Amino acid sequence: MSVPTQLTHKGRPVPYIAAWSAEHVELPRLTDVSGALAIKGQRRAAGVLWTPWRWKPGVGEPHYAAVHGPRQRECMRLKLCQVCGRRTVRTDLGWPWLLEDHRGEGRWPEQEVTTHPPTCEECQPVSQIQCRPNRGRFVSVRVGDVAIDGVHGQLYRRAARPVPVGKRVLFTGDARLRWMLGNQIAATLLDVTVVDMHTQAPVSREAVRR
Ligand SMILES: [Zn+2]
Repeated sequence: MSVPTQLTHKGRPVPYIAAWSAEHVELPRLTDVSGALAIKGQRRAAGVLWTPWRWKPGVGEPHYAAVHGPRQRECMRLKLCQVCGRRTVRTDLGWPWLLEDHRGEGRWPEQEVTTHPPTCEECQPVSQIQCRPNRGRFVSVRVGDVAIDGVHGQLYRRAARPVPVGKRVLFTGDARLRWMLGNQIAATLLDVTVVDMHTQAPVSREAVRR
């Protein structure tokens, strides 16, 4: 696999999964085919209808808030860094990940469901500074096992002209997946260890320095 170069725009790094203006596709007409959402000429890959995108990273203007579905899914499946697009390195504790800080919530970060792909060690400090609106609010973790079992997208209600009812995460086996236009993989993170972002050594979740 070729190693992508970090794209920049006006001197600022652009994350690998950010969409560029030349990549947006006007949404084709959605229809009901045999009780499932359909786009003419497009197959359902493994039972999911995915939002169509062009693949032209670096062309036009970056849209930091728009996630390019095919690159996000590539990152999740191959454990590529969402910022630089390079393969992340697994240690005894697992793959490197940055998570929003939800320390007040139950078992967090174990079984966290996220649409954020891994972030390599080199990109983590940069992301902590550059990412808006979560600047300075990420925690570094290592993830021993990743279940690729969710789809994030727009759920529709069955009709001759299907009606959008909201963004959702649905998991494998959910019958409503037939009525979802998916864009991103939602992964469930297992065997998670909180680490120091700079040393990558394990720390208690209360002791994380930022
Ligand atoms: Zn990286």
